[in-house]
Amino acid sequence: MSSQFDVAIIGGGPAGSVAGSVLAKHGRSVVILEREKFPRFQVGESTIPGSLDTLQRIGVKEKIDQAGFLTKDGGEIVSACGGARAKFFFRNALNPRWKTAYQVDRMTFDDILLRHAQSLGCEVREETRVDSVEFDTDGVTLHCRNNAVPVRAAYVIDCSGRSSLLANRFRLKQPFPHLKKFSVYSYYQRNNKSNAPEDAYTRMIRGSDAWFWVIPIADGKISVGVVMDLERFQQLKLSPEEAFNRTIEEQPEVRKWVENTTRYMPVFATADFSYAVSQLTGERWVLAGDAAGFIDPVFSSGIYMAIYSGEQAGETINAALANPAKKSAACRRYERTVQKRLASYLKLTSGWYTKEFIEIFLHPREMMNMVAIVNSVLGGNPPRTLQERLVMGLFYFLVYLQGRTGKLVPHLTFQPEPARAAAPEEELEAKI
Ligand SMILES: Cc1cc2nc3c(=O)[nH]c(=O)nc-3n(C[C@H](O)[C@H](O)[C@H](O)COP(=O)(O)OP(=O)(O)OC[C@H]3O[C@@H](n4cnc5c(N)ncnc54)[C@H](O)[C@@H]3O)c2cc1C
Repeated sequence: MSSQFDVAIIGGGPAGSVAGSVLAKHGRSVVILEREKFPRFQVGESTIPGSLDTLQRIGVKEKIDQAGFLTKDGGEIVSACGGARAKFFFRNALNPRWKTAYQVDRMTFDDILLRHAQSLGCEVREETRVDSVEFDTDGVTLHCRNNAVPVRAAYVIDCSGRSSLLANRFRLKQPFPHLKKFSVYSYYQRNNKSNAPEDAYTRMIRGSDAWFWVIPIADGKISVGVVMDLERFQQLKLSPEEAFNRTIEEQPEVRKWVENTTRYMPVFATADFSYAVSQLTGERWVLAGDAAGFIDPVFSSGIYMAIYSGEQAGETINAALANPAKKSAACRRYERTVQKRLASYLKLTSGWYTKEFIEIFLHPREMMNMVAIVNSVLGGNPPRTLQERLVMGLFYFLVYLQGRTGKLVPHLTFQPEPARAAAPEEELEAKI
Protein backbone atom coordinates (compact mmCIF):
# COMPACT_ATOMS: atom_id res chain seq x y z
CA MET A 1 0.00 0.00 0.00
CA SER A 2 1.59 3.23 -1.19
CA SER A 3 1.59 6.30 1.02
CA GLN A 4 2.75 8.82 -1.61
CA PHE A 5 0.28 10.22 -4.17
CA ASP A 6 -0.18 13.13 -6.53
CA VAL A 7 -3.52 13.89 -4.90
CA ALA A 8 -5.25 12.85 -1.70
CA ILE A 9 -9.03 13.33 -1.59
CA ILE A 10 -10.88 13.53 1.71
CA GLY A 11 -14.37 12.00 1.31
CA GLY A 12 -15.79 9.55 -1.22
CA GLY A 13 -19.17 11.23 -1.84
CA PRO A 14 -20.11 12.50 -5.32
CA ALA A 15 -17.58 15.38 -5.20
CA GLY A 16 -14.67 13.17 -4.13
CA SER A 17 -15.50 10.35 -6.55
CA VAL A 18 -15.85 12.70 -9.51
CA ALA A 19 -12.65 14.63 -8.66
CA GLY A 20 -10.81 11.30 -8.29
CA SER A 21 -12.21 9.97 -11.58
CA VAL A 22 -11.11 13.09 -13.46
CA LEU A 23 -7.58 12.94 -12.04
CA ALA A 24 -7.24 9.18 -12.58
CA LYS A 25 -8.30 9.65 -16.21
CA HIS A 26 -5.44 12.17 -16.52
CA GLY A 27 -3.09 9.47 -15.24
CA ARG A 28 -2.56 10.96 -11.76
CA SER A 29 -2.07 8.80 -8.70
CA VAL A 30 -4.99 9.40 -6.35
CA VAL A 31 -6.07 8.14 -2.95
CA ILE A 32 -9.64 8.66 -1.71
CA LEU A 33 -9.88 8.54 2.08
CA GLU A 34 -13.45 7.84 3.19
CA ARG A 35 -14.61 7.73 6.80
CA GLU A 36 -17.50 5.29 6.20
CA LYS A 37 -17.86 1.86 4.67
CA PHE A 38 -19.81 2.20 1.41
CA PRO A 39 -22.65 1.89 0.55
CA ARG A 40 -23.52 4.43 3.23
CA PHE A 41 -26.72 6.43 3.89
CA GLN A 42 -26.97 9.97 2.57
CA VAL A 43 -29.99 12.26 2.14
CA GLY A 44 -30.70 14.01 -1.19
CA GLU A 45 -32.34 11.91 -3.87
CA SER A 46 -33.46 14.45 -6.45
CA THR A 47 -30.98 15.27 -9.23
CA ILE A 48 -31.04 17.74 -12.13
CA PRO A 49 -29.81 17.32 -15.71
CA GLY A 50 -26.87 19.75 -15.31
CA SER A 51 -24.67 16.89 -14.03
CA LEU A 52 -25.16 14.52 -16.92
CA ASP A 53 -22.40 15.88 -19.17
CA THR A 54 -19.85 15.35 -16.40
CA LEU A 55 -21.14 11.85 -15.66
CA GLN A 56 -20.80 11.05 -19.34
CA ARG A 57 -17.31 12.59 -19.60
CA ILE A 58 -15.98 10.49 -16.74
CA GLY A 59 -17.61 7.37 -18.24
CA VAL A 60 -20.06 6.50 -15.45
CA LYS A 61 -23.36 7.55 -17.04
CA GLU A 62 -24.01 4.14 -18.57
CA LYS A 63 -23.59 2.45 -15.18
CA ILE A 64 -26.08 4.92 -13.69
CA ASP A 65 -28.53 4.37 -16.55
CA GLN A 66 -28.41 0.64 -15.85
CA ALA A 67 -28.93 0.95 -12.09
CA GLY A 68 -32.74 1.16 -12.29
CA PHE A 69 -33.19 4.67 -10.91
CA LEU A 70 -36.45 6.47 -11.68
CA THR A 71 -36.30 8.85 -14.61
CA LYS A 72 -37.26 12.34 -13.52
CA ASP A 73 -38.50 14.70 -16.19
CA GLY A 74 -39.41 17.58 -13.95
CA GLY A 75 -41.15 18.62 -10.81
CA GLU A 76 -44.18 20.26 -9.36
CA ILE A 77 -44.48 23.17 -6.97
CA VAL A 78 -47.69 23.37 -4.99
CA SER A 79 -48.99 25.93 -2.51
CA ALA A 80 -49.89 24.29 0.78
CA CYS A 81 -53.62 24.49 0.30
CA GLY A 82 -53.30 23.03 -3.18
CA GLY A 83 -54.83 26.27 -4.49
CA ALA A 84 -52.08 26.76 -7.07
CA ARG A 85 -49.62 24.40 -8.62
CA ALA A 86 -47.13 24.60 -11.45
CA LYS A 87 -45.27 21.80 -13.15
CA PHE A 88 -41.86 22.35 -14.67
CA PHE A 89 -40.26 20.07 -17.19
CA PHE A 90 -36.58 19.90 -18.07
CA ARG A 91 -37.58 19.47 -21.73
CA ASN A 92 -38.98 23.01 -21.67
CA ALA A 93 -35.58 24.50 -20.90
CA LEU A 94 -33.78 26.58 -23.51
CA ASN A 95 -32.23 24.17 -26.04
CA PRO A 96 -31.99 21.36 -23.47
CA ARG A 97 -29.19 18.89 -24.02
CA TRP A 98 -30.66 16.50 -21.47
CA LYS A 99 -34.41 16.34 -20.93
CA THR A 100 -34.42 14.10 -17.88
CA ALA A 101 -32.48 13.42 -14.69
CA TYR A 102 -32.77 10.72 -12.01
CA GLN A 103 -34.37 10.20 -8.62
CA VAL A 104 -31.67 8.19 -6.88
CA ASP A 105 -31.23 6.03 -3.85
CA ARG A 106 -28.04 7.69 -2.59
CA MET A 107 -26.62 4.49 -1.12
CA THR A 108 -26.51 2.99 -4.61
CA PHE A 109 -25.74 6.19 -6.54
CA ASP A 110 -22.79 7.24 -4.37
CA ASP A 111 -21.48 3.67 -4.33
CA ILE A 112 -21.55 3.50 -8.15
CA LEU A 113 -19.56 6.75 -8.35
CA LEU A 114 -16.98 5.61 -5.78
CA ARG A 115 -16.52 2.18 -7.40
CA HIS A 116 -16.17 3.90 -10.76
CA ALA A 117 -13.34 6.08 -9.42
CA GLN A 118 -11.74 2.91 -8.08
CA SER A 119 -12.10 1.17 -11.45
CA LEU A 120 -10.27 4.08 -13.09
CA GLY A 121 -7.30 3.57 -10.76
CA CYS A 122 -8.02 5.60 -7.62
CA GLU A 123 -6.97 3.85 -4.43
CA VAL A 124 -10.04 3.91 -2.19
CA ARG A 125 -9.51 3.52 1.55
CA GLU A 126 -12.82 3.16 3.38
CA GLU A 127 -13.31 3.38 7.14
CA THR A 128 -10.40 5.79 7.04
CA ARG A 129 -11.19 9.04 8.75
CA VAL A 130 -8.80 11.93 8.14
CA ASP A 131 -8.12 13.58 11.49
CA SER A 132 -5.61 16.24 10.52
CA VAL A 133 -3.75 17.68 7.56
CA GLU A 134 -0.29 19.30 7.68
CA PHE A 135 1.01 21.53 4.91
CA ASP A 136 4.60 22.22 3.90
CA THR A 137 6.22 23.72 0.80
CA ASP A 138 6.35 20.39 -1.08
CA GLY A 139 2.95 18.97 -0.27
CA VAL A 140 0.56 17.70 2.38
CA THR A 141 0.58 15.00 5.03
CA LEU A 142 -2.73 13.50 6.10
CA HIS A 143 -3.08 11.73 9.41
CA CYS A 144 -5.85 9.15 9.50
CA ARG A 145 -7.47 7.49 12.46
CA ASN A 146 -6.26 3.88 12.94
CA ASN A 147 -3.53 4.33 10.34
CA ALA A 148 0.01 4.45 11.62
CA VAL A 149 1.50 5.56 8.30
CA PRO A 150 0.43 9.05 7.25
CA VAL A 151 -0.57 9.68 3.62
CA ARG A 152 1.65 12.04 1.66
CA ALA A 153 0.45 13.89 -1.48
CA ALA A 154 1.35 16.91 -3.57
CA TYR A 155 -2.21 18.30 -3.22
CA VAL A 156 -5.33 17.63 -1.19
CA ILE A 157 -8.93 18.09 -2.31
CA ASP A 158 -11.32 18.37 0.60
CA CYS A 159 -14.61 16.72 -0.35
CA SER A 160 -15.63 15.93 3.22
CA GLY A 161 -19.16 17.29 2.71
CA ARG A 162 -20.73 19.42 5.39
CA SER A 163 -18.02 18.23 7.84
CA SER A 164 -15.86 20.75 5.93
CA LEU A 165 -12.59 19.64 7.45
CA LEU A 166 -10.37 22.37 5.98
CA ALA A 167 -12.93 25.19 5.88
CA ASN A 168 -13.47 24.66 9.62
CA ARG A 169 -9.77 24.52 10.30
CA PHE A 170 -9.16 27.75 8.37
CA ARG A 171 -12.38 29.34 9.72
CA LEU A 172 -13.73 30.02 6.25
CA LYS A 173 -17.36 28.95 6.82
CA GLN A 174 -19.97 31.71 6.85
CA PRO A 175 -23.55 30.79 7.74
CA PHE A 176 -26.42 32.75 6.13
CA PRO A 177 -28.44 34.41 8.90
CA HIS A 178 -31.62 34.34 6.76
CA LEU A 179 -31.27 30.60 6.04
CA LYS A 180 -31.10 29.22 9.55
CA LYS A 181 -33.24 26.18 8.85
CA PHE A 182 -34.06 22.86 10.38
CA SER A 183 -35.00 19.78 8.40
CA VAL A 184 -36.62 16.50 9.38
CA TYR A 185 -37.11 13.68 6.92
CA SER A 186 -37.74 10.00 6.49
CA TYR A 187 -38.61 7.33 3.95
CA TYR A 188 -41.84 5.47 3.18
CA GLN A 189 -42.80 2.38 1.21
CA ARG A 190 -45.92 2.63 -0.96
CA ASN A 191 -47.90 -0.31 -2.27
CA ASN A 192 -48.15 1.43 -5.60
CA LYS A 193 -44.83 0.83 -7.38
CA SER A 194 -45.79 2.90 -10.40
CA ASN A 195 -42.99 4.14 -12.64
CA ALA A 196 -45.30 6.56 -14.49
CA PRO A 197 -43.55 9.87 -15.29
CA GLU A 198 -45.89 11.95 -13.09
CA ASP A 199 -45.13 9.61 -10.19
CA ALA A 200 -41.44 10.43 -10.54
CA TYR A 201 -41.66 14.23 -10.16
CA THR A 202 -40.03 15.96 -7.27
CA ARG A 203 -42.86 17.71 -5.45
CA MET A 204 -42.27 20.78 -3.35
CA ILE A 205 -45.16 21.92 -1.21
CA ARG A 206 -44.86 25.43 0.14
CA GLY A 207 -46.55 26.21 3.47
CA SER A 208 -46.58 29.51 5.32
CA ASP A 209 -43.68 28.68 7.62
CA ALA A 210 -42.34 25.43 6.18
CA TRP A 211 -41.93 23.63 2.89
CA PHE A 212 -42.00 19.92 2.16
CA TRP A 213 -40.43 17.66 -0.39
CA VAL A 214 -41.88 14.43 -1.71
CA ILE A 215 -39.37 12.55 -3.85
CA PRO A 216 -40.24 9.14 -5.26
CA ILE A 217 -37.40 6.65 -5.49
CA ALA A 218 -37.60 3.30 -7.33
CA ASP A 219 -39.74 0.37 -6.12
CA GLY A 220 -42.44 2.47 -4.51
CA LYS A 221 -40.17 4.16 -1.99
CA ILE A 222 -40.54 7.87 -1.27
CA SER A 223 -38.41 10.38 0.55
CA VAL A 224 -40.46 12.94 2.49
CA GLY A 225 -38.98 15.90 4.34
CA VAL A 226 -39.87 19.25 5.82
CA VAL A 227 -37.70 22.36 6.11
CA MET A 228 -38.67 25.08 8.59
CA ASP A 229 -37.01 27.93 10.44
CA LEU A 230 -34.81 26.63 13.22
CA GLU A 231 -36.52 29.12 15.55
CA ARG A 232 -39.93 27.73 14.63
CA PHE A 233 -38.78 24.21 15.44
CA GLN A 234 -37.45 25.37 18.82
CA GLN A 235 -40.79 27.09 19.56
CA LEU A 236 -42.68 23.85 18.84
CA LYS A 237 -40.93 22.19 21.82
CA LEU A 238 -41.35 18.82 20.15
CA SER A 239 -38.90 16.08 19.35
CA PRO A 240 -37.83 15.97 15.67
CA GLU A 241 -40.10 12.97 15.10
CA GLU A 242 -43.08 14.65 16.74
CA ALA A 243 -42.47 17.82 14.72
CA PHE A 244 -42.25 15.75 11.54
CA ASN A 245 -45.51 13.94 12.21
CA ARG A 246 -47.30 17.10 13.32
CA THR A 247 -46.29 19.18 10.29
CA ILE A 248 -47.24 16.42 7.84
CA GLU A 249 -50.57 15.93 9.59
CA GLU A 250 -51.34 19.65 9.05
CA GLN A 251 -50.68 19.52 5.30
CA PRO A 252 -53.24 17.64 3.19
CA GLU A 253 -50.99 17.96 0.12
CA VAL A 254 -48.25 16.01 1.89
CA ARG A 255 -50.46 13.78 4.01
CA LYS A 256 -52.03 12.21 0.94
CA TRP A 257 -48.58 10.88 -0.09
CA VAL A 258 -47.91 9.06 3.16
CA GLU A 259 -51.40 7.65 3.73
CA ASN A 260 -51.42 3.86 3.39
CA THR A 261 -47.62 3.69 3.37
CA THR A 262 -45.14 2.24 5.85
CA ARG A 263 -42.25 4.28 7.17
CA TYR A 264 -39.18 2.06 6.87
CA MET A 265 -36.45 4.39 8.14
CA PRO A 266 -36.05 6.45 11.31
CA VAL A 267 -36.75 10.18 11.28
CA PHE A 268 -33.52 12.10 10.63
CA ALA A 269 -32.90 15.72 11.59
CA THR A 270 -30.37 18.23 10.27
CA ALA A 271 -29.97 21.86 11.25
CA ASP A 272 -28.08 24.85 9.88
CA PHE A 273 -27.09 23.30 6.59
CA SER A 274 -26.64 26.45 4.47
CA TYR A 275 -23.32 28.32 4.44
CA ALA A 276 -20.79 29.93 2.15
CA VAL A 277 -17.05 29.37 2.25
CA SER A 278 -14.97 32.50 1.67
CA GLN A 279 -11.97 30.85 -0.02
CA LEU A 280 -12.00 27.63 -2.05
CA THR A 281 -8.32 27.18 -2.92
CA GLY A 282 -4.95 27.57 -1.25
CA GLU A 283 -1.31 26.76 -1.88
CA ARG A 284 -1.80 22.98 -1.73
CA TRP A 285 -5.57 22.56 -1.33
CA VAL A 286 -8.90 22.87 -3.08
CA LEU A 287 -12.39 22.48 -1.60
CA ALA A 288 -15.22 20.83 -3.59
CA GLY A 289 -18.84 19.78 -3.07
CA ASP A 290 -20.55 20.68 0.20
CA ALA A 291 -17.10 21.34 1.66
CA ALA A 292 -17.01 24.39 -0.66
CA GLY A 293 -20.46 25.69 0.33
CA PHE A 294 -24.05 24.49 0.53
CA ILE A 295 -27.28 26.32 -0.14
CA ASP A 296 -30.52 24.71 1.07
CA PRO A 297 -31.90 21.59 -0.62
CA VAL A 298 -34.90 23.34 -2.22
CA PHE A 299 -33.66 23.39 -5.83
CA SER A 300 -31.86 20.01 -5.73
CA SER A 301 -28.57 21.73 -6.40
CA GLY A 302 -26.39 19.78 -3.92
CA ILE A 303 -25.44 16.74 -6.02
CA TYR A 304 -25.17 18.93 -9.12
CA MET A 305 -22.76 21.34 -7.38
CA ALA A 306 -20.80 18.40 -5.92
CA ILE A 307 -20.39 16.83 -9.36
CA TYR A 308 -19.66 20.15 -11.08
CA SER A 309 -17.12 21.34 -8.51
CA GLY A 310 -15.62 17.83 -8.24
CA GLU A 311 -14.89 17.85 -11.96
CA GLN A 312 -13.56 21.42 -11.92
CA ALA A 313 -11.41 20.71 -8.85
CA GLY A 314 -9.92 17.67 -10.57
CA GLU A 315 -9.12 19.72 -13.67
CA THR A 316 -7.66 22.54 -11.56
CA ILE A 317 -5.27 20.25 -9.70
CA ASN A 318 -4.36 18.45 -12.90
CA ALA A 319 -3.44 21.80 -14.48
CA ALA A 320 -1.34 22.67 -11.39
CA LEU A 321 0.48 19.33 -11.57
CA ALA A 322 1.08 19.69 -15.31
CA ASN A 323 2.39 23.24 -15.06
CA PRO A 324 2.83 24.79 -11.62
CA ALA A 325 3.16 28.24 -13.23
CA LYS A 326 -0.50 27.98 -14.31
CA LYS A 327 -1.79 26.99 -10.88
CA SER A 328 -2.79 30.46 -9.69
CA ALA A 329 -4.80 31.20 -12.83
CA ALA A 330 -6.50 27.78 -12.65
CA CYS A 331 -7.38 28.33 -8.98
CA ARG A 332 -8.78 31.80 -9.67
CA ARG A 333 -10.94 30.38 -12.46
CA TYR A 334 -12.15 27.64 -10.13
CA GLU A 335 -13.07 30.10 -7.36
CA ARG A 336 -14.92 32.33 -9.84
CA THR A 337 -16.99 29.65 -11.55
CA VAL A 338 -17.95 27.70 -8.41
CA GLN A 339 -18.79 30.81 -6.35
CA LYS A 340 -20.85 32.20 -9.23
CA ARG A 341 -23.02 29.10 -9.41
CA LEU A 342 -23.45 29.02 -5.65
CA ALA A 343 -24.45 32.71 -5.76
CA SER A 344 -27.09 31.95 -8.39
CA TYR A 345 -28.60 29.26 -6.12
CA LEU A 346 -28.42 31.60 -3.15
CA LYS A 347 -30.52 34.12 -5.06
CA LEU A 348 -33.11 31.53 -6.09
CA THR A 349 -33.24 30.07 -2.59
CA SER A 350 -33.53 33.44 -0.85
CA GLY A 351 -36.43 34.16 -3.23
CA TRP A 352 -38.09 30.84 -2.43
CA TYR A 353 -38.55 31.91 1.18
CA THR A 354 -40.50 35.04 0.14
CA LYS A 355 -44.20 34.99 -0.67
CA GLU A 356 -43.88 37.14 -3.79
CA PHE A 357 -41.35 34.78 -5.37
CA ILE A 358 -43.72 31.83 -5.05
CA GLU A 359 -46.62 33.92 -6.36
CA ILE A 360 -44.69 34.83 -9.52
CA PHE A 361 -43.35 31.30 -9.80
CA LEU A 362 -46.81 29.78 -9.60
CA HIS A 363 -48.25 32.23 -12.14
CA PRO A 364 -45.65 32.11 -14.88
CA ARG A 365 -45.85 34.42 -17.90
CA GLU A 366 -44.52 33.52 -21.26
CA MET A 367 -42.50 36.51 -22.35
CA MET A 368 -39.03 36.76 -23.84
CA ASN A 369 -38.48 33.03 -23.29
CA MET A 370 -38.63 33.56 -19.53
CA VAL A 371 -40.19 30.19 -18.78
CA ALA A 372 -37.50 28.37 -20.78
CA ILE A 373 -34.66 30.37 -19.25
CA VAL A 374 -35.86 29.86 -15.68
CA ASN A 375 -36.31 26.16 -16.49
CA SER A 376 -32.72 26.04 -17.75
CA VAL A 377 -31.40 27.58 -14.56
CA LEU A 378 -33.43 25.09 -12.49
CA GLY A 379 -31.91 22.29 -14.57
CA GLY A 380 -28.38 23.41 -13.66
CA ASN A 381 -27.54 25.60 -16.66
CA PRO A 382 -26.72 29.13 -15.57
CA PRO A 383 -27.57 31.93 -18.03
CA ARG A 384 -24.89 32.08 -20.69
CA THR A 385 -25.78 34.97 -22.98
CA LEU A 386 -26.51 38.59 -22.20
CA GLN A 387 -30.14 38.03 -23.21
CA GLU A 388 -30.47 35.12 -20.77
CA ARG A 389 -28.96 37.17 -17.97
CA LEU A 390 -31.31 40.07 -18.74
CA VAL A 391 -34.34 37.80 -18.71
CA MET A 392 -33.32 36.33 -15.33
CA GLY A 393 -32.92 39.92 -14.13
CA LEU A 394 -36.43 40.65 -15.41
CA PHE A 395 -37.76 37.61 -13.56
CA TYR A 396 -36.33 38.92 -10.29
CA PHE A 397 -37.66 42.39 -11.11
CA LEU A 398 -41.19 40.94 -11.44
CA VAL A 399 -40.71 39.29 -8.05
CA TYR A 400 -39.63 42.65 -6.63
CA LEU A 401 -42.66 44.42 -8.15
CA GLN A 402 -45.02 41.78 -6.81
CA GLY A 403 -43.49 42.30 -3.37
CA ARG A 404 -43.85 46.10 -3.60
CA THR A 405 -47.27 46.36 -5.21
CA GLY A 406 -48.85 42.94 -4.85
CA LYS A 407 -50.65 43.61 -8.11
CA LEU A 408 -48.90 41.54 -10.77
CA VAL A 409 -50.43 38.15 -9.96
CA PRO A 410 -53.09 36.93 -7.53
CA HIS A 411 -52.07 36.55 -3.89
CA LEU A 412 -51.74 33.07 -2.50
CA THR A 413 -52.41 31.78 0.95
CA PHE A 414 -50.03 29.15 2.18
CA GLN A 415 -52.26 28.10 5.02
CA PRO A 416 -53.51 24.55 4.57
CA GLU A 417 -57.24 24.50 4.04
CA PRO A 418 -58.37 20.92 3.73
CA ALA A 419 -61.74 21.98 2.34
CA ARG A 420 -60.08 23.95 -0.44
CA ALA A 421 -57.56 21.24 -1.13
CA ALA A 422 -60.41 18.90 -1.94
CA ALA A 423 -61.96 21.38 -4.38
CA PRO A 424 -60.96 21.46 -8.07
CA GLU A 425 -57.51 22.95 -8.30
CA GLU A 426 -56.17 25.65 -10.50
CA GLU A 427 -53.57 23.80 -12.51
CA LEU A 428 -51.13 25.89 -14.41
CA GLU A 429 -49.93 24.68 -17.71
CA ALA A 430 -46.97 26.99 -18.00
CA LYS A 431 -43.88 25.41 -16.73
CA ILE A 432 -41.55 27.42 -14.60
C1 LIG B 1 -32.01 17.87 4.22
C2 LIG B 1 -31.21 17.79 2.95
C3 LIG B 1 -31.81 17.38 1.77
C4 LIG B 1 -31.07 17.32 0.58
N1 LIG B 1 -31.70 16.96 -0.59
C5 LIG B 1 -31.01 17.03 -1.76
C6 LIG B 1 -31.63 16.69 -2.99
O1 LIG B 1 -32.81 16.33 -3.06
N2 LIG B 1 -30.88 16.79 -4.12
C7 LIG B 1 -29.57 17.18 -4.09
O2 LIG B 1 -28.95 17.29 -5.14
N3 LIG B 1 -28.96 17.44 -2.93
C8 LIG B 1 -29.63 17.37 -1.77
N4 LIG B 1 -28.99 17.64 -0.61
C9 LIG B 1 -27.56 17.93 -0.63
C10 LIG B 1 -26.70 16.72 -1.02
O3 LIG B 1 -27.00 15.62 -0.21
C11 LIG B 1 -25.23 17.12 -0.89
O4 LIG B 1 -25.07 18.36 -1.53
C12 LIG B 1 -24.28 16.10 -1.53
O5 LIG B 1 -24.29 14.89 -0.81
C13 LIG B 1 -22.85 16.66 -1.54
O6 LIG B 1 -21.92 15.71 -1.97
P1 LIG B 1 -20.44 15.77 -1.38
O7 LIG B 1 -19.67 14.73 -2.09
O8 LIG B 1 -19.93 17.14 -1.36
O9 LIG B 1 -20.58 15.38 0.17
P2 LIG B 1 -21.14 14.04 0.86
O10 LIG B 1 -22.11 13.34 0.00
O11 LIG B 1 -21.58 14.47 2.21
O12 LIG B 1 -19.86 13.14 0.99
C14 LIG B 1 -18.82 13.49 1.87
C15 LIG B 1 -18.11 12.22 2.31
O13 LIG B 1 -16.99 12.60 3.11
C16 LIG B 1 -16.84 11.67 4.15
N5 LIG B 1 -16.07 12.32 5.23
C17 LIG B 1 -16.46 13.37 5.99
N6 LIG B 1 -15.47 13.70 6.86
C18 LIG B 1 -14.42 12.87 6.59
C19 LIG B 1 -13.12 12.71 7.15
N7 LIG B 1 -12.69 13.49 8.15
N8 LIG B 1 -12.32 11.75 6.65
C20 LIG B 1 -12.74 10.94 5.64
N9 LIG B 1 -13.98 11.04 5.08
C21 LIG B 1 -14.81 11.99 5.55
C22 LIG B 1 -18.25 11.32 4.55
O14 LIG B 1 -18.33 10.07 5.18
C23 LIG B 1 -18.97 11.33 3.18
O15 LIG B 1 -19.07 10.05 2.62
C24 LIG B 1 -29.70 17.67 0.60
C25 LIG B 1 -29.09 18.08 1.78
C26 LIG B 1 -29.83 18.15 2.95
C27 LIG B 1 -29.15 18.59 4.22
